[in-house]
Amino acid sequence: MSELLQKITDVKVWHIRVPVVSTRSHGIGDIEGGFEVVLLRLTTEGGQEGWGEAACWSVFTGSPEASYYALSRYLRPLILGRMVSERERIIGTALYAIAHATEAKAALESALLDLEGKILNQPVWALFGQKSQARIPLSVSIANPDFEEDKQLLQKISADGVRLIKLKTGFKSHQFDIMRCEYIRKYHPELSLRVDFNQGLEAEEGVSRTLDLATFEPDFIEQPVRAHDYETMAKINRQCPVLLLADESVFGPEDVKKAISQNIAGGVSIKVMKSGGIKRARKTAQIAAKAGWSCYGGDMHETGLGHLPGVHLIASCPEITLGCEFYHARYYVIEDILSTKFPIDEGHVVVPDSPGLGFSPDIEKIDALSLK
Ligand SMILES: [Mg+2]
Repeated sequence: MSELLQKITDVKVWHIRVPVVSTRSHGIGDIEGGFEVVLLRLTTEGGQEGWGEAACWSVFTGSPEASYYALSRYLRPLILGRMVSERERIIGTALYAIAHATEAKAALESALLDLEGKILNQPVWALFGQKSQARIPLSVSIANPDFEEDKQLLQKISADGVRLIKLKTGFKSHQFDIMRCEYIRKYHPELSLRVDFNQGLEAEEGVSRTLDLATFEPDFIEQPVRAHDYETMAKINRQCPVLLLADESVFGPEDVKKAISQNIAGGVSIKVMKSGGIKRARKTAQIAAKAGWSCYGGDMHETGLGHLPGVHLIASCPEITLGCEFYHARYYVIEDILSTKFPIDEGHVVVPDSPGLGFSPDIEKIDALSLK
C-alpha cells in the first residue's frame, strides 16, 4: 500500500526504571522497588511515531541492558532508512541478526505495527484478522511475601469486579502456600484461583507439592519446576488432576512443538516477550491449540505500553481462552507511562479500536524515569 511507503528516519531507545507499589516474590526471584524496561520509538519522515516496549526480567528472558543494546546497536542499522511497508522483511532479518533478545524483537515488531496501524487508520488487531474477543477476562497476581498486604489487594480487586487471581507460590514455604490457598478459598469464593510456581520447586518435591495444591482445585497450575526439566514436568503432568501449564519451559513455536511431543503440560502461557512478537506468539498458540492444549495470555513486568501488543494478540487469537494478566499498569506500578489509563473495566481488559496500539506513552513521564 502506497501510504506505507514512508521511510523510518529516527530510532530512539530508552532504558527506564518503573517504581512499583510493593515487593513481589516468585519462585525464581523478587521485584523490589521497581522493574526496568526498554522503550523504542520509531519516527517516519512524515512525522508518524510507533512505540514498542521490551519488558525484560534477567532471571527469565534476559537483562534490560541486553535489550537496550540489541535495539540501539544491533537492530538500529536494520531499521533506519527502511520503509514502513517492509515490516515483515525487517523482522525477518532481525530474527537472525542477533540471537535470543526476544523482548527487543517484540518491541521492534510492536513499533512497526503501531506505525502501520496509525498510517492505515486501523487497530493493530485488525492487521491480523477478525476481532474474536472485545473484553478479555483479567487475572491479578497475588505475590506479596507480606500476605496481610495481599489481603487488602484481594478486597480491592474483588470490589473492582476482578474474578481471576493467580497465586504465586514456591518462594517461601509449602505451609505458606497452603495457608494462602485456604484463606482465598474460605474468604473469596467469588474468585477463580490459579497457581504459578515460577519454577520454585525442586524436582524431587515437584510432584507431591503440586498435588497438594491441586486439592484446592485451581483452574490451572503453572510451571512447578525448572524450565528445562521436561522430564519432571511430564511426570507431574501424568499425575496432576488439574490442568498443568508450561510458562518458562516454552518461549516460542520451536519449544511448544517439543513440549507437546514430550507431553510436559496441557496448556501454555503465551507471552509476546517470550516469543519475540505477536506473530510468533500467535503461531505458538495455534500449534498448542491444535494439539488440544489450552492457552493463557501471560505477561512480564510491563507498563501499559508493554501490555498493548498482548491485548491486540489476544483480540485476534481465538486460541487464547484463559484470559490475561495485564494488571501491572493499573494495579502494580505507582504511575503508568501511558498518557491515558490502560483500559480495564469490571475485571476485563477492553480491546482498543483506535488506530495502531490505541494508546501512546507520555514522553515527560518516560524522561523522568530514564536511566540513560
Ligand atoms: Mg508464569
